[in-house]
Amino acid sequence: MAADLESEVQAIDKSLLECSAEEIAVKWLQANDLQKEVYQHLAYYVPKIYCRGPNPAPQREDMLAQHVLLGPMEWYLCGEDPAFGFPKLEQANKPSHLCGRVFKVGEPTYSCRDCAVDPTCVLCMECFLGSIHREHRYRMTTSGGGGFCDCGDTEAWKEGPYCQKHELNTSETAEEEDPLVHLPEDMVARAYNIFAITFKYAVDILTWEKENELPGLEMIEKSDTYYCMLFNDEVHTYEQVIYTLQKAVNCTQKEAIGFATTVDRDGRRSVRYGDFQYCDQAKSVIVRNTSRQTKPLKVQVMHSSIVAHQSFGLKLLTWLGSVIGYSDGLRRILCQVGLQEGPDGENSSLVDKLMLYDSKLWKGARNVYHQLFMSSLLMDLKYKKLFAIRFARNYERLQSDFMKDDHDREFSIADLSIQIFTVPSLMGWYNMCINPYFLKKARMLITEENLMTTIIKTFMDHLRHRDIQGRFQFERYTALQAFKFRRVQSLILDLKYVLISKPTEWSDDLRRKFLEGFDAFLELLKCMQGMDPITRQVGQHIEMEPEWEAAFTLQMKLTLVISMMQDWCALDEKVLIEAYKKCLTVLMQCHSGFTDGEQPIVLSMCGHSVETIRYCVSQEKVSIHLPVSRLLAGLHVLLSKTEVAYKFPELLPLSELSPPMLIEHPLRCLVLCAQVHAGMWRRNGFSLVNQIYYYHNVKCRREMFDKDIVMLQDVVQQNNTLIEEMLYLIIMIVGERFSPGIGQVNTTDEIKREIIHQLSIRPMAHSELVKALPEDENRETGMESVIEEVACFKKPGLTGRGLYELKPECAKNFNLYFYHFSRAEQSKAEEAQRKLKRQNREDTALPPPALPPFCPLFASLVNILQSDVMLCIMGTILQWAVEHNGYAWSESMLQRVLHLIGMALQEEKQHLENLSEENVVTFTFTQKISKPGEAPSNSPSILAMLETLQNAPHLEVHKDMIRWILKTFNTIKKLRESSSSSPVAETEGNIMEESSRDKDKAERKRKAEIARLRREKIMAQMSEMQRHFINENKELFQQTLEELDTSASGVHENSPVILDAKLTALGPEQTRVAEPRQVVMCILCQEEQEVKVDSRAMVLAAFIQRSTVLSKNRNKITPDPEKYDPLFMHPDLSCGTHTGSCGHIMHAHCWQRYFDAVQAKEQRRQQRLRVHTSYDVENGEFLCPLCECLSNTVIPLLPPPRVLFNRLDFSGQPNLTQWIKTLSQQVQAIQLLRNEHCASHSGHSEKMDQLQLPEGFRPDFKLKNPYSESIKEMLTTFGTATYKVGLKVHPNEEDPRVPIMCWGSCAYTIQTIERILADEDKPLFGHLPCRQDDCLMSLTRFAAAHWTVSSLSAVQGHFCTLLASLVPNEKNGNLPCILDIDMFHLLVSLVLSFPAIHCQDFSGVSLGTGDLHLFHLVTMAHIIQILLTSSTEENGMDQENTNSEEEVAVLTLYKFLCQCTGSALKEISSGWHLWRNLKAGIMPFLRCSALFFHYLNGVPAPSEIQVNGANQFEHLCSYLSLPNNLTCLFQENGEILNTLIESWCSNSEVKRYLEGKRHAISYARESNKLIDLPDDYSCLINQASNFSCPKSGGDKSRAPTLCLVCGTMLCSQSYCCQTELEGEDVGACTAHTYTCGSGVGIFLRVRECQVLFLAGKTKGCFYPPPYLDDYGETDQGLRRGNPLHLCKERFKKIQKLWQQHSITEEIGHAQEANQTLVGIDWQHL
Ligand SMILES: [Zn+2]
Ligand SMILES: [Zn+2]
Ligand SMILES: [Zn+2]
Ligand SMILES: [Zn+2]
Ligand SMILES: [Zn+2]
Ligand SMILES: [Zn+2]
Ligand SMILES: [Zn+2]
Repeated sequence: MAADLESEVQAIDKSLLECSAEEIAVKWLQANDLQKEVYQHLAYYVPKIYCRGPNPAPQREDMLAQHVLLGPMEWYLCGEDPAFGFPKLEQANKPSHLCGRVFKVGEPTYSCRDCAVDPTCVLCMECFLGSIHREHRYRMTTSGGGGFCDCGDTEAWKEGPYCQKHELNTSETAEEEDPLVHLPEDMVARAYNIFAITFKYAVDILTWEKENELPGLEMIEKSDTYYCMLFNDEVHTYEQVIYTLQKAVNCTQKEAIGFATTVDRDGRRSVRYGDFQYCDQAKSVIVRNTSRQTKPLKVQVMHSSIVAHQSFGLKLLTWLGSVIGYSDGLRRILCQVGLQEGPDGENSSLVDKLMLYDSKLWKGARNVYHQLFMSSLLMDLKYKKLFAIRFARNYERLQSDFMKDDHDREFSIADLSIQIFTVPSLMGWYNMCINPYFLKKARMLITEENLMTTIIKTFMDHLRHRDIQGRFQFERYTALQAFKFRRVQSLILDLKYVLISKPTEWSDDLRRKFLEGFDAFLELLKCMQGMDPITRQVGQHIEMEPEWEAAFTLQMKLTLVISMMQDWCALDEKVLIEAYKKCLTVLMQCHSGFTDGEQPIVLSMCGHSVETIRYCVSQEKVSIHLPVSRLLAGLHVLLSKTEVAYKFPELLPLSELSPPMLIEHPLRCLVLCAQVHAGMWRRNGFSLVNQIYYYHNVKCRREMFDKDIVMLQDVVQQNNTLIEEMLYLIIMIVGERFSPGIGQVNTTDEIKREIIHQLSIRPMAHSELVKALPEDENRETGMESVIEEVACFKKPGLTGRGLYELKPECAKNFNLYFYHFSRAEQSKAEEAQRKLKRQNREDTALPPPALPPFCPLFASLVNILQSDVMLCIMGTILQWAVEHNGYAWSESMLQRVLHLIGMALQEEKQHLENLSEENVVTFTFTQKISKPGEAPSNSPSILAMLETLQNAPHLEVHKDMIRWILKTFNTIKKLRESSSSSPVAETEGNIMEESSRDKDKAERKRKAEIARLRREKIMAQMSEMQRHFINENKELFQQTLEELDTSASGVHENSPVILDAKLTALGPEQTRVAEPRQVVMCILCQEEQEVKVDSRAMVLAAFIQRSTVLSKNRNKITPDPEKYDPLFMHPDLSCGTHTGSCGHIMHAHCWQRYFDAVQAKEQRRQQRLRVHTSYDVENGEFLCPLCECLSNTVIPLLPPPRVLFNRLDFSGQPNLTQWIKTLSQQVQAIQLLRNEHCASHSGHSEKMDQLQLPEGFRPDFKLKNPYSESIKEMLTTFGTATYKVGLKVHPNEEDPRVPIMCWGSCAYTIQTIERILADEDKPLFGHLPCRQDDCLMSLTRFAAAHWTVSSLSAVQGHFCTLLASLVPNEKNGNLPCILDIDMFHLLVSLVLSFPAIHCQDFSGVSLGTGDLHLFHLVTMAHIIQILLTSSTEENGMDQENTNSEEEVAVLTLYKFLCQCTGSALKEISSGWHLWRNLKAGIMPFLRCSALFFHYLNGVPAPSEIQVNGANQFEHLCSYLSLPNNLTCLFQENGEILNTLIESWCSNSEVKRYLEGKRHAISYARESNKLIDLPDDYSCLINQASNFSCPKSGGDKSRAPTLCLVCGTMLCSQSYCCQTELEGEDVGACTAHTYTCGSGVGIFLRVRECQVLFLAGKTKGCFYPPPYLDDYGETDQGLRRGNPLHLCKERFKKIQKLWQQHSITEEIGHAQEANQTLVGIDWQHL
C-alpha cells in the first residue's frame, strides 16, 4: 500500500513537471473569464500537489506549487519571464523610506528614550546602528516576533527619524507621489486581475466552513480521502496531548511529540489520513479522552481537497507578500484590492472578512495573514489610514471575538492594536514592538470614529458584574469571569495608547469627542467609586479572605490612563473647565447615593464650630476606591497650575463645592488607614493589610493616596478649620507642597525630593530607585535628569551592583514625615539619618526642612500652623509631656508636635528672609508661642514649656530637637529685630543653651568611651565566633576562609628556611629537610592529633570530578568506561580527573560517623517528603561540616612517603645508562615471573632457574605495609572514589585501574593549578591559597602511598608497561607513540609506581636515584616530543645572533633528529629559534614537575621561584637537578639515548605525523579560556535571533543558549531538542555538558541574559551575567532594557570559577542558600 502510494506520487510528479508556466500564462492572457480559467486550473492541480499522504512533504509541495501554480501567475503578472520581470520591477521601484523590517522572535529592538515619541517606536539593529540614537539614551529589548522597524517614520521620532541607509531615499517627496506611476499601465491592469482573483480565492478557502464542497471550485478529486485534523488550544498541556495521541492514533511517543509540537506551533496538524470512518474513529477517541477537562480538544475530520486548497491558500498569501516586496506600486494595488468593498456592502472587503473571521482561524493561518497585513496595509502610507478606520469600526466586534477566543492575544488580530500599543515587556504577553503609525494618528480616530468612547464602552460591556448601586463587583466571580477580566484588561492598554500622543491643537470636533469620551470614562469611574466596601470585623475573624486583587488590578491598570486624561485636560482651558464640571456632577451623583440619612452634626472647639457628618469608620462601610473624588482633586490642582481658577472664576462652580461632600470619603479612607495601623482591623485579615499597602504603594498612590491629600488640602484651606486631631495629617496637609500647582515647584523638584527620601533610607541601586518612583506613559521617571544633583554614584565591585548615595548636603532636605514613607521605611530612614549625624559628630535632631512656598490658591494653608486650635493642641500635648503623669500622651505624639513647631518656625523664618519693604509678615508664630495661656487656665507659654522639657530626663531622645527649636526661635527673633529694629529683651535661652551644650559634650564623651569598651569586648567575642560567622556570611566566605587558614593552620608554612644552600627537590642530591611534626585539629571533635604512619587517620574533605577544562579536543568520543585503559594520558588532555578540597581536616572515624548520620537523616527525609538536597548522598556526596562545601570523599593526610623507603646512602650510584640496563633486567624478570605464575601454579620452574636475576633483586620479597589499619582503609576509600568518579563506573577496589586513576588525578590536578598560576602571572610557589596547598600535598602523598594497598604485581605491571613506552622491550607491543603521551602524566605514574619494583631491589641503588633517572628520561622524551612537533617559523621573530652553547647544542640535537626521521622533519637552521621554542615548550612541564617533587619530597622551594623574577628557567632547572642547558642530558647519556631516539622516531605514527597524515599536539599547550564575548550585549541577542533550532527545520528556538566553553548555540528547554542520555530524556544543554564539559556546563541564556551553571542531571543554578548597564547593574530577564556592556572583570571571575573547578561547588552553595533551586528540573534545560 505504502509502496503504491509512493509510485503513484512519483508518476504524478512527472506529469506535473511537464506543465509549462509560460503556456498557461498565455492562455490566461487571452481568456475572457480569467477567474474561471484560474479556478479551473487550481481545482485541477491543487489537490494533485498538496496533501498526498499522511505527512506533509513541504519541499516537494513547494517545488511543484512554484512550478505549476505560482509560476503561471508570475508570468501572467510580469507579461514575461519573471526572472527578468521582477528585477526590472525592483529597479524601477522608488522604495518608501520606511524600513518596515518585520521582527523575528528574539530579535533585538531599540528605542530611544530621548527621541522616541513613545516607547513603542522601535528600530531594528541595522537601522539603530546607523542612526543618531546610538549616542543617546536608548533602551534595548527582544521582540516576541511580529512588529516592524519604525525607521523612516517621521511621526515616530522627535529627532533623527532616518538611519543612514534610509535617509538616501528621502530626497524626493515620496509621500505625495502615487507609486502606481512607476508601473506600466498594462501591468497595473494585470496586477489588479491576478491579485483580486488569488486574494479572494485565499480568503474564501480559509474562511470556508462546509465539509464536502469548495467555494466556486469543482471537487475534481473523487477519491475520498480525509484527514483527522487536531487543533491547538490553550487549555490542554503538552503532556495531555501527547498521551492522548498515543492512545488515539497508535503512534509512538516520538511521533506524538512531533504532532504536539506542530500543533502548538502551527495551530493544527493532521494526525490521521484515510477514509472517513478511519479518521472519525480517531476523532472520537481524542474527544472522549480529553472531555474531562473544561472542554475537549478540537478535532475535525476534513476532506483532503479542502485541506489541500487551504494549504495553497496560505502559500498564496505568502506569495502575495513577497511579490509586493518588489514594488511599492504592486503593494498599493494589493491594498486597494484588499479594502475594496465586496457585493455585500459593509464589512465585505477581503480584509474585513479575514479580520472578522480571525478568532476562528488556526494559529498558522493567522500568522500568515497578519504578516501579509503588516507588509502591505501597514507599509503603505495611504492605506494605513484607511485600514485604521476599518480596524476602529470593527473594534468592538474584534474585541468581543477575542474575549471568546482561547488563544493568547499574540495570535489574535486584536493584537494588531497591542502590537501598536504595548510597551515592550517580557512580563505578560510576548512583547510586540510594532508601531504602525495609524493609531498614533489616534486623534483622527477619536474624532472620526469616536474611538475613545468605543473602547470604554466595549470595556464596560465586558465587565457586567455589578452590585445594587451599579458598582463593579468582583466578589464571588467565577473562573470564567476571571478569565474574561484578564482579557478585558487589554482594552485599557488600547485606551492608553490612544491617549499617548497629546494634541497640539484642539478643534471643536476634537473637544466634543474627547469630552464625550471623558463622559464615558466618568461612567467607568463611577462604577469604581466605592467598590469593594469593607466593614470592620468585630468578634470573629473573617472566614474567607475577600477578593480584593481584581479591584486593585483595575485601579493599577487605570492609573496611567487617569493621569493621561488629566494631561489632556490641562492642555485646553475649555476642556479643563468642562471636565471639572462634569467630574463634580458625577461626584455629586455618587455622593447622594451613599450618604443618605446621615445627619449633619455640629462640632465646636476653641470657639470655632463646624458642621460635619457623623460617620463612624469603625462601624460602617468604607471603601478605598474613590477614583472620582481623586480625579476631581487632580483637576483642581490643574485649575491652580494652569491659573484657570484665577482667569475664569465665573466659569467655575467653585461656590458649589461643599466641603463635607468633597472630603468625606477621602477622609474616611485616611481614617481607615489610621485605624488599621492602630490594629483595630486585625480581624479583617490580610486582604485589608494588602489593600492598605497598595494604597500607599508607588504603583497606585499617584491616583489614590496622593489625591486624597490634595482633596483635603483644597477643603481645609477654605474652612481654615481643623476637622480631626490628626497631627500627621496636618503635617502632610501643610508640608506636602511638591506637586506643581500646589507649591511653587517644578516637576524636577518633586522627583528630587522623592529620590532624596529614598536614599535617606539607604544607598540604592538604579533599578531600586526606578521601582520606587512612578513612571509615566513613556516609562520614564525623570530620574536621570536630577540624580546627579542629589546623589553620588559608587561603582560596583566584582559582585553586587552600583549604588547611589545621598550627597551629604542634601540631608538637610530630609523630612521625617515624608508622606510616601511606609511606617517601616520611616523608622529605617530615621535610624539611618540619626546614625549619620552621630558619625559626623552632629546633634541628632531631625528638624523639618525648609519648604517651597505654596501657590496662591493654597497659600493660606500655612495658617493652620498658627491657628488658635493648632496652638491649643500643641500647648495641651506639651503640657501633658511636662506633667508626665500618665496622661494619654505618647512620645510620637510629642515628636509630631515638635515637628509641627519646627515647621512653623521654618515657615516664619522664610517669610522674614524673603521680606520685601512693603509687605508685613503675618505669620507670627514666635510671638504666639511666647505668650502664656490666658485665664482661667494660666498655662505657661509653649516656649516656656519647651525650655522646661529640655532638661526632662525622660525625654532624652527629643533633647536635640528641642534645642534646635530654641535655637531657631532665637534666630528668628534676631531676624525680627534687625528688620523691625525694635529691640527685644534677650532671653536666657542662649546662655542656657551654651551651658547645656558643654554638659552635653562631656556626657557624649563618656558615652563614647563606654561604647568603645563595649566594642572591644564584642570584637574579642567576634574573633572567637569567626568561623561561625563565616558560615553565615557566604559572600565573604571564600576569601576570609583562606586568610583564616593562613593564620590558623601554620603547619606547613614554617618549613625550615635554609639560607644560601642550593635547594634540590629530588635525586641523590636532594636537600634533606627535617619534616616538622605535623599536628592538626579535627573540626568535628576539636581534638588535636599528630600525622604519623601508625596513628589514626586524619582526612581532608575532598571533591573529585571529571574535567575537560584543559581539553584540547572536545569532540572526542568517550570510550566505554568498562574497557577503557587509562594508563597513558593523551596529550590532548581531553578528560581528566580533578580533585579539590576545602582544606578542612577531620578524624577518619569522626568523618565516618558524620557521614553515616547524614545518610540516615537523608533516608528519613526522603521517606517523609520527596525533597531533594543540593547533594546526592547515594553517590557519596556530603557537605563539609564546617564550610558546607560540596564533597564526595576524603583524602588521608600522610607524612612524606618516600622517607620510609629510602634506605641507603648515595655513594656509588649508577648513571642513567647503567640504571636503565639493570632496570630492564628487573622488568624482564618480573614479566617472566608473571607469565610463569599464570602458566602454572607449581612454584619455581626451569625457566625461573634459567633466569639470571639481577644482583640484589628479590622478586619474592613481600614488603610489610607500614601504615596503620585506619590509614590503609582511607587509602582504599579515596582510591576507590577516584576510580569510581574518574571512570564513571561502579566502585571496585580490586580493579587494577584504581592506582592508575589515583596517579592520574594527582597529575591532572597539578596541571590545572599550574595553568591557573601561569594565566594569572603568579609565581609557582608562595601564592597558593592554603586549601590548595593542603590539597596538593595530601593528594601527592596519597598517590605516592596508594601502591601499598594495591596489588603489587598489578602496580609492577603498570610500571613495566609505562617504562616500555620509552624503553621498548619485546613484550610490550602496541603502545602509544611518544606524540600521544602526556609526559607529565607519564612522569607521575612512573615515579609513583617505581617503589613497587624498587622495594624488591637490595642492590644498594637508592630510590632517589631512580626518581632522578626517571625524571631525566621523561624530560628528554618530552624534549624530543617538542622538537618533533615544533612549528617554529624562522622568520617570525627577531633573531639575536648569539650562538650560545645551548643554541649550538640544540641545533645538533635537531640535526640528529632529522637523521633519525629520514629527513622528514622540517629544515631549521636557527638554533636560537629552536632553543627559545624548546624553553617555552617545556616550561609548563618543568613547573608541574617542581610542584610534584616539592609535595612528594617536602623540599621547600628556593626563594627565587616564590616570586616572579628573572631567570625562572634556570632556578627551576637547579631545583629539579637539571642542567641549565637541557641538551646536556643527551650528551651525558649519548650511549643509550641515540638508540632510544631512533626507536621513538621509527614508530609508524610518528612517521605518519611527519608525512602530514595526522595531527599532533604541539607545545606549549595554550591555556583554555571561555569564549570571547562581544562588548555590546545586543550582538549576542542578534546572534541568537538568527539561530534556529537544529532539529525542527528552521524554526526559531525559544531559549537559545550559548555554551561559554566552546561557543555552541543550543536550543534549550524545548521538546524538539531533547535527547536520551543514560535512559533519560534531557534537554540540549544537559546533553551538551556530557560531550563538552563531562557533565559540567557554563551557559549564557541569551534571551534571559542569565548565566546558567549545570552539573550532572540534577544540579544547576543561575548566576549573574557578566553584562552590566551604565548603573553597574545586571539585567536578568532583560526587563530594564538599558544598554548592556561586557564587564571583563566579572567574566574573568566566571572563567576563574571554571578553571578552578568550582562550578559544582558554586551550585552547591547557591542551592543551599535557595532551596527552590533544588526543585528545578535542570536536566530539561
Ligand atoms: Zn530598520
Ligand atoms: Zn533605517
Ligand atoms: Zn535619540
Ligand atoms: Zn575528630
Ligand atoms: Zn570545609
Ligand atoms: Zn560547549
Ligand atoms: Zn530545538
